[in-house]
Amino acid sequence: ERRGLERLRSKPTRTRDGVDITLLANAESAEDLARAHALGAAGVGLFRTEFLFLQRDALPDEDEQFHVYRDAVLRMSGRPVTFRTLDLGADKADRTGLSLGNEDNPALGVRGLRLSLLHEAVFDTQLRAIARAAAYGPVRVLVPMVSCREEVVIVRRRLRRAVAAVRRRGVEVATPPLGVMIEVPAAAIGAESLADAVEFFSIGTNDLVQYLLAVDRNNDALSDLYSPLHPGVLRLLAHVIRAGTRHRIPVAVCGEMAGDPWMAPLLLALGLREFSLHPGKLLELRRAIRECDLGRLLARSEQLLQARDRQAIERWLAEARRG
Ligand code: PEP
Ligand code: MG
Repeated sequence: ERRGLERLRSKPTRTRDGVDITLLANAESAEDLARAHALGAAGVGLFRTEFLFLQRDALPDEDEQFHVYRDAVLRMSGRPVTFRTLDLGADKADRTGLSLGNEDNPALGVRGLRLSLLHEAVFDTQLRAIARAAAYGPVRVLVPMVSCREEVVIVRRRLRRAVAAVRRRGVEVATPPLGVMIEVPAAAIGAESLADAVEFFSIGTNDLVQYLLAVDRNNDALSDLYSPLHPGVLRLLAHVIRAGTRHRIPVAVCGEMAGDPWMAPLLLALGLREFSLHPGKLLELRRAIRECDLGRLLARSEQLLQARDRQAIERWLAEARRG
């Protein structure tokens, strides 16, 4: 079993009918990056930067961050690395005094970009560090918890200023493409109005499912309800993918769902062409995709979107598996 998988290390991620699919890695350590590289990931689709801010009392300065980011870029030797700006708050509280920690509804509170915009100097420091790393290879900036276009406009302006500030110092810098996490339902529904303001989308199904179904992603008592196999979730995913595709920007899914080989036919049928997942799942997903016939899946996508409940979606998946 493991040996069969190992053979796929050097194989392309291509459907049976010859369509190439992009597999990116979610990474937050040197080991993840090494694994992603060795297993043939096309790049890093989600580099979570929270770890730099957790389990410590002082904030990392620009140089410390720059060294971590540049190291990631160099390790991926020319493949793009997508740095997600700080996503603290809610479940991930820090000790540095950034996150508020006393909110009634932390999941609906000051988290992700909202926290960054509350601490502008911290945000600008991170943007400068990422822009400096961008001088060493292809880099993208990804912003979490965006709910509206105005936020993108603000981030774009701050990114531009961060690049200019570094350039004034005479330090090497580049302007990375900017993308947003689609994980707030209103951002997903309004994807059309965000698509022409950014260079890429990354759908965060972990949060999107939580917010769309009003089900806490960490509440064990509700784990049965917390599932992407809900007709409303599938329709929204299809809508976001279509909006991105129409505007010719790449759309990835970077939530847990993307790393589940069982879900691959469903995501392909909804139009997805980029998956970002834990490196430990890369080969299994590649195998699953190589077993898919994209033409046949697309021919059955309308049927998938008409499914009325989870059982119908599961039946669709079981049939897709049989071919
Ligand atoms: C997500 O929400 O799907 C996601 C990838 O981000 P995180 O799990 O870090 O919130
Ligand atoms: Mg998220």
